[in-house]
Parts: sequence; C-alpha cells; structure tokens
Amino acid sequence: MDSSRTASAFAAPDHDHTACVSRALADAEAHCRAHGLRLTATRRRVLEIICQGHEPAKAYDILEQLGRAGRHPAPPTVYRALEFLLDARLIHRIDSLNAYVACVHPNRQHSAQLLVCSSCEQVAEIDDPQIQAVLDQGASRHGFKVDSQTVEIHGRCPRCRAAQGADHEGA
Ligand SMILES: [Zn+2]
Ligand SMILES: [Zn+2]
Ligand SMILES: [Zn+2]
Repeated sequence: MDSSRTASAFAAPDHDHTACVSRALADAEAHCRAHGLRLTATRRRVLEIICQGHEPAKAYDILEQLGRAGRHPAPPTVYRALEFLLDARLIHRIDSLNAYVACVHPNRQHSAQLLVCSSCEQVAEIDDPQIQAVLDQGASRHGFKVDSQTVEIHGRCPRCRAAQGADHEGA
C-alpha cells in the first residue's frame, strides 16, 4: 500500500491511538473554553468513550461502559451529554447507524462527509469543500439553502479492500 493512501483519512492500524484520544480531549477542552461551554465530567467521559475507537459508538454502548466504570447514569443524562456534544460540534451523529463519532476538527466550521466502512465499521471524516460546494449548488438549483450537511457514505476502507483483494477495482 502506498503511503499517500495510508495517510488517508482512515487511521492506520499501527497509529498511536492514545495520542488520538488525548488530542481529541484536549481539543474539546480548548474548544469549550473558547466558546464558554461547560465540559462537565459526564460530557467529557462520554466523549472519551466515543473516542475509544474509530468506529461509531451507540448510545447504549456508552451507557453500558459508564455502568461498568461504576457510574450508573440515567439514560437521559447520556442523551443530554450527547446532545451537548453534538451542539458543541464535538461529535457527529451517523443517522444510518444511530451512532456517534468524534469530530476530527471541532474548531473549524465545516460540513462533514463521513466515510463509513461496512466491513470494519471504521469511520473517516473528510471535509471536502468541493463536495460541499457541489451539494450547495445542487440544492440552490431547487431554491434550497443548505444550513448544514452531514453526508454518510458507505463503502469499504483501504484496509478492508486490501484484505478482500480490490485489485480489479483499480486500487
Ligand atoms: Zn486513533
Ligand atoms: Zn467534523
Ligand atoms: Zn474497513
């Protein structure tokens, strides 16, 4: 696999994920400070759980993990924390999976295009201004003004494609 491909939005299998998580949490803290938002212990913990992997987390898995750590928050607490994180743009919701992923750059106003691997469930966020522009134009032809975009794109990630032999597809 060539390096430009592994440097794609998908996390490399051997990347330092601990660094990923601490960066995400540090970014979130800075973001909240800058915007006068309160990242309470529960909200921070929920974000940390979402950051645990690069695959989306479901609300119910988050509840279960919090329970395992000895806290037993009521489901509304978790839903409120998720809503806060969504409003603060620290996470994205993947509607088709009813699950959440951490945003890779909460400090930047962006529309998100999420590449969702149907094999390993890894999600990569690409925020491609060209895709955004095309969608904006397409919508405006119908008199529609886009406020926000979250595009979910399903397929197979570079690793799964390599494992399944993707040569004939021109990889
Ligand atoms: Zn990572
Ligand atoms: Zn994002
Ligand atoms: Zn995959």
